[in-house]
Amino acid sequence: MHTLAAAALLVTTNALQLWKKPVAAPPSAPAIAAVDDHRRAVIGGHNWLTHAPPSYFARDKLTVKGPRANTDVGAPVDATRPLVKLGDVAVGSWSCSEGGWLSPAPRTSTEWFIMLEGEGSVDEEDGTRHRFAAGDVVVLPRGWSGRWDVQKDLHKVWAVHTHADDGRSTSPVIATPSQMSDGDIYKAGDTAVRVWTRQPGPVEVRDKATTESIYVLSGEMFVTNADGSAVRCVAGDTVALPRGWTGRYDVASAVKAVSVVVGKETTSAAAPAPSVSHAGGKRRPIVGGNWKCNPATASSLDELCRNFDGVAPYLEKCDVYVCPSNLHVALVKDNFTPGVHVAPQNCNFKGCGAYTGEMSVDQIQDLGLGWVLIGHSERRGEFGLPTPAESNQLMATKLQYILDQGLNCVFCIGEPLSIRQKGIQAIVPILKALEDKSRVVIAYEPVWAIGTGVAATPEQAQETHKGIRDWIAANVDRATADAIRIQYGGSANAGNAPELSSFPDIDGFLVGGASLKPEISDIVKAIAEAKV
Ligand code: PEP
Repeated sequence: MHTLAAAALLVTTNALQLWKKPVAAPPSAPAIAAVDDHRRAVIGGHNWLTHAPPSYFARDKLTVKGPRANTDVGAPVDATRPLVKLGDVAVGSWSCSEGGWLSPAPRTSTEWFIMLEGEGSVDEEDGTRHRFAAGDVVVLPRGWSGRWDVQKDLHKVWAVHTHADDGRSTSPVIATPSQMSDGDIYKAGDTAVRVWTRQPGPVEVRDKATTESIYVLSGEMFVTNADGSAVRCVAGDTVALPRGWTGRYDVASAVKAVSVVVGKETTSAAAPAPSVSHAGGKRRPIVGGNWKCNPATASSLDELCRNFDGVAPYLEKCDVYVCPSNLHVALVKDNFTPGVHVAPQNCNFKGCGAYTGEMSVDQIQDLGLGWVLIGHSERRGEFGLPTPAESNQLMATKLQYILDQGLNCVFCIGEPLSIRQKGIQAIVPILKALEDKSRVVIAYEPVWAIGTGVAATPEQAQETHKGIRDWIAANVDRATADAIRIQYGGSANAGNAPELSSFPDIDGFLVGGASLKPEISDIVKAIAEAKV
């Protein structure tokens, strides 16, 4: 008997060992990897990706055009190498030695470029000078005219979009490396220039709606054509994808890139959506639906998912996520209008293993989900659950773990003051160290407003949101304060969302009751339209 018990114990403990964190599956490598630079550069064409490693654009590979005409400073010599032309978008590289010239004819295309080396400037007609240096991203919109100067021998990778005059501003736009957090640097007409970060994992793309020219800033991914031919893309590589492209990305380590996107964007689930927050002081709005412990029956889920169908037209401007009950996450995750994220309502900070009743980040990622919500006041002991309240320290530990594992996190704070202040205080070091501020969203929910039908007045909410932002500026830094998105939660509905949305520090909503109703679409519409 004694021996049997020992054997049973051994079997059980071995089983538990097996249930610990599974060995990570090797990243799904593409079938074929193109090897030589030449082949990698010429894969491009209408249906295929084009890829150029830095060596393709090495300065000695550029063709010298000869001394420039009409120069009024120095005798600059420029050189160029095209990469690909995809409809009205062309991609290539250019270098130029020191000197300057007038550019009096208004441009007939919008040009984007990233500076690889050197220093330069462009002047507007009124003499306003825009300087740029290595690492900067520059947009010269259609219609710009003025003068060009190269102060220090420069080299750049460019993409040019030829298009009709659409009345856009002609002023150059410059983003320095420190301004390259996720979001749009520039958007006008059909052209957008944006920074995005894509987390490890596969993304299938079907019939891409836009033409995209990508410059990889960091990370590693494989991009695979429909025929299985693929390239490994790392920092310094240029990748161009035509409209209509079908294939996949396999991100091995988080990829940060700046890309020029041309065309009308759709919200197809297949299209890799950038992870987004802000640029140029603008934060992308975000609305979440918290279903809490609802509905009672799985048969009601479809109806609740359909309530989100109306958000489709706004996904281009607004992030939307839904927090179903944990039992329902896997049942609904593929039943939303494409582009809506599913975010479990909690997770642990240890991973898989002997943690009864918990959910792990590994499991969340395995379902293909990229978001999780933690710290809701109903888990912090505010609503009389006879379980110990989750502490701020626990929240900080969870947040760090979640971010380390590559997920995005909605972090709830709220009244009473102990939650509001200590809640953020506990995560100051995490926010300080966080490179991509878009990965944390703060949901501020005054406890007295949750589920009561009594929302904070817009002025109260704005004042608190601003207070939180100022507090972050003082305790973390101004950039984090400006970039971080703060949602309001507490009886938000279609009636009060338009006015709340008009306040500058309210970046979105965490919606409980109303997210179980069709009015959730009106809430998304209200903030998407208010934050244009
Ligand atoms: C919530 O619980 O997150 C919430 C905001 O609920 P409600 O919108 O119902 O007040």
